[in-house]
Amino acid sequence: MSDSYYEDEDDLADVKFSRQVVRRILKIAWNHRGLLIGLIVCTLLFSFADALFGFIVKQVIDEGIIAENPDALISYGVLYAIRRIVMAVNAFGFIFCAGRLGRHVHYDLKKEAFNQIQQLSFTEFDKRPVGWFMARLISDVQYVAIFVTWNLHDLIWTVSTVVASLIYMFIIDWRLALIILAMFPFMLYIGFKFQKKIIAEYRNVRSINSRITANYNENISGVKIVKGLVREERNLNKFGNLTDDMYKSSYRAVKLSSIFIPLIQIISAIAFGVVLFYGGSQIQAGTFTVGSLQAFITYITIIIEPINVLAAVFAEMQHGFASAEKVFDLIDTKPEIQDQPNSVELNEISKNIEYRDVSFYYEEKNPVLKNFSLKIKKGEIIALVGPTGGGKTTIANLACRFYEPKKGKILIDGTDYRQFTQISLQRRLGVVLQTPHLFSGTIMENIRYGRLEATNEEVYDASKLAHADEFIQVLSKKYEEEVGEKGSLLSQGQKQLISLARAILSKPDIVIMDEATSSIDSLTEELIQKGMISLLKNSTGFIIAHRLSTIKNANRILYIDKGRIVEKGTHRELLLQKGRYYHLYTRQFREEREKELGKEELGI
Ligand code: ADP
Ligand code: MG
Repeated sequence: MSDSYYEDEDDLADVKFSRQVVRRILKIAWNHRGLLIGLIVCTLLFSFADALFGFIVKQVIDEGIIAENPDALISYGVLYAIRRIVMAVNAFGFIFCAGRLGRHVHYDLKKEAFNQIQQLSFTEFDKRPVGWFMARLISDVQYVAIFVTWNLHDLIWTVSTVVASLIYMFIIDWRLALIILAMFPFMLYIGFKFQKKIIAEYRNVRSINSRITANYNENISGVKIVKGLVREERNLNKFGNLTDDMYKSSYRAVKLSSIFIPLIQIISAIAFGVVLFYGGSQIQAGTFTVGSLQAFITYITIIIEPINVLAAVFAEMQHGFASAEKVFDLIDTKPEIQDQPNSVELNEISKNIEYRDVSFYYEEKNPVLKNFSLKIKKGEIIALVGPTGGGKTTIANLACRFYEPKKGKILIDGTDYRQFTQISLQRRLGVVLQTPHLFSGTIMENIRYGRLEATNEEVYDASKLAHADEFIQVLSKKYEEEVGEKGSLLSQGQKQLISLARAILSKPDIVIMDEATSSIDSLTEELIQKGMISLLKNSTGFIIAHRLSTIKNANRILYIDKGRIVEKGTHRELLLQKGRYYHLYTRQFREEREKELGKEELGI
């Protein structure tokens, strides 16, 4: 289940912070340094104002109450009010800065990762499932944004609250402050030791939980199959094991907490004891005040929490850090197919395109094409037919340079196509694939993508040739209708008509159509057929179609099976051969006839 891409928490335990990655995260935040600095400064001011409390308590007791001085009471009351205002203002400040900074970092990183995904070669998408890329774009980017905002805030808050409290304590009585300081390593040690384990157990619980959910989904959606195969017992066992593990993990987490919390209470009790003992005896000796005693007690209460949560803050940061590593890993992936150093622009394909002894595989152990050779002259339309998995799409993919030949060459007008830039090659091609791809934006923008400098008139003309104009005219905003998120507004066939218009507009030298009508309703299919004829008129190219009626007029038909050309010739020649094409054609013809007859019988 795709859950596992979002929740791979198991590997977090070994995350090590590397300075390089942290620096890189901070560099992104530094692009919005105003907000970053704002966040840091507001957090620091908040902590220092917060820690002033103990000091005010001391002054109120010593100088106000014990000295019976109402003026001092008033001025410390005012100071207290100011402190609260400073805290409120700075809390507003850091929430505001963290919110905005988080959004910027999120946006920047998402944009960079998204651009990168668009640049990656097709091979990258064979190696990793789509869910992997989605997880990087959605959840990891989010965690990185949290890392530079709320995690950073928490870290600064915990450290500065402790430091500020210590400073005030040292000002009041440095000897007692030293004693408290001496207890720190102990408190930190226990905090880290326990929190780390508790967090690990809770993570475990969460990850088992998502596995159980995934299991649930699988079993519920496949309940018939499960029953059919009498797998109920095995599934129950698996389910039982998972819930057992989850129970044990949460039990361990609770057990650890039940030791940790009293332990912390004991430590703070010891600290209170030390303060009371030391303070009490010093008060009797006249070298310590009641106010100071109360101030110390206040400070111990203030610092206990930050010290405890510090470990949790680090664990959170690990999460963000691990996400950052994955996002950077994606951003740093070099596309496998890159322009060669001295590549030139391809301005026109004027003569031919040739596959010369091309061998290709996706996975080394499964060769797809072996010494495949084919030459297509300008003005010629080649149709590829044959069984699924024969290699037709692969032949088209290679022409587009979505993949490159492993052996042999593809030549354009006699030159190896690797000597041209990818973008200039792809600009010369008009590609219409099985599943149309639209970008977010208006219909106008989507068609114009074929040739950015085209005028509106040219867009309309292309759209009419593609027979897309008819349905666009019916839409309320016509060409200005948004397709993006609401692409569902358009049917698959309408989207295909738009991508056909886009291809026509680009005036390609070579047209490549791969089963452009295979997932489309028959009404739209007819329109697409007509559009295809416009596109193919006076062009060069490949068409791959499962409907053989579309390819009857091709100059040459190649029957491809297992990466080889098994039969070739014109439609008539192949029919006369009575070979595999003949069988494929007659079968399809018969099936269609039967369908027609069926309709007639039903009176449709
Ligand atoms: P066709 O278009 O004729 O149906 P394809 O070119 O799609 O055939 O596939 C040819 C062979 O290559 C098939 O065996 C298919 O399983 C394999 N193949 C296609 N695409 C990939 C891919 N991205 N990764 C691995 N194998 C692939
Ligand atoms: Mg195919």
